[in-house]
Amino acid sequence: MPVPFLDLKQINLAHKDALMQAFERVLDSGWFIMGEELKRFEQAWADYCGARHCVGVANGLDALALSLRAMDIGPGDEVIVPSNTYIASWLAVTHVGATVVPVEPDPASFNIDPARIQAAITPRTRAIMPVHLYGQAADLEPILALAQRHGLRVLEDGAQAHGARYQGQRLGAHGDAVAWSFYPGKNLGALGDGGAITTNDAALAERLRALRNYGSKRKYHNKVIGYNSRLDELQAALLNAKLGALDAENAQRAAVAAQYLAGLAGLAGKGLGLPKVPDHGEPVWHLFVVRHAQRDLLALRLAEAGIATVIHYPVAPHLQPAYAFMGQGPGSYPISEAMHREVLSLPIGPTQTEAETREVIAALKQTLAGL
Ligand SMILES: *Cc1c(COP(=O)(O)O)cnc(C)c1O
Repeated sequence: MPVPFLDLKQINLAHKDALMQAFERVLDSGWFIMGEELKRFEQAWADYCGARHCVGVANGLDALALSLRAMDIGPGDEVIVPSNTYIASWLAVTHVGATVVPVEPDPASFNIDPARIQAAITPRTRAIMPVHLYGQAADLEPILALAQRHGLRVLEDGAQAHGARYQGQRLGAHGDAVAWSFYPGKNLGALGDGGAITTNDAALAERLRALRNYGSKRKYHNKVIGYNSRLDELQAALLNAKLGALDAENAQRAAVAAQYLAGLAGLAGKGLGLPKVPDHGEPVWHLFVVRHAQRDLLALRLAEAGIATVIHYPVAPHLQPAYAFMGQGPGSYPISEAMHREVLSLPIGPTQTEAETREVIAALKQTLAGL
């Protein structure tokens, strides 16, 4: 039985009636940009995240970049980012003209290691960007304390962590702002691109509302050099239709993760590293990432058994040609580089069945037994 990595078709077909109704609502309204659906989603997402404000934008990358712009971060400024993240976290910093200062992750969590941040702070540092990778909250408390001590902003990248909790509280307003992506493959996914920022900072939200809409609050009156980066009515309506099921879908992911953790528990001796859940958080299992020194062979054997896996990510950001200008070659961030060599994401998603997960466990066990 083949096991898909993430069955987006099934995931969305489960919402077919609600999605069709949402489409009809938008079509019948005749209003397609910045209307009632967006307002409703912004309120609902802010409430869900426990934040005072939400500003919908076109995608997750824009959510990060516009947040940095709204914080007046630009050329000459430094932003501390994880050395191990999806490249969009870095791109946002580069797009506003600021400099990325990578900090190595904690090997246990894959997230930025708070203990290493202090050494990276310079007089030019303006912000820290923790990324809640794979659906696990980064350890925010020490990061927020450092930021306060040094007068820095904290912009969280929540693109992989919709609904994840840190110290019992949903992500959304621990730092100054959280950037979200509703790319179809995320835990809360639109049927196209989408993004948002949540924050408790009213002034920041106000600036973001202008920045996403040509720098204008009043039509044809432009205060700042803005962008066209809006979450359109259709995507907002589709997200409104899906948001109510997010907790249930995250619970289904958690059940898959629990089955993996139990089924694969005995394989540490075979060199298989399993995700660890830190005491501070409650993950939403955007990805279930294992580690192994012979990662490529594992992926090949699983593929032969009809099991789809993905590598998140194959090339560290500092080793991408796009960042060659930084002059940081192999060996610059060894912890991140080792992760990029060894990580493998197993299939996980809200529609994955127990039988499918069992099949992945069996294939993995068999492969490891033969190594
Ligand atoms: C998906 C993702 C983004 C970018 O979101 P888009 O909506 O695709 O632009 C940013 N950061 C992380 C960690 C992501 O996983």
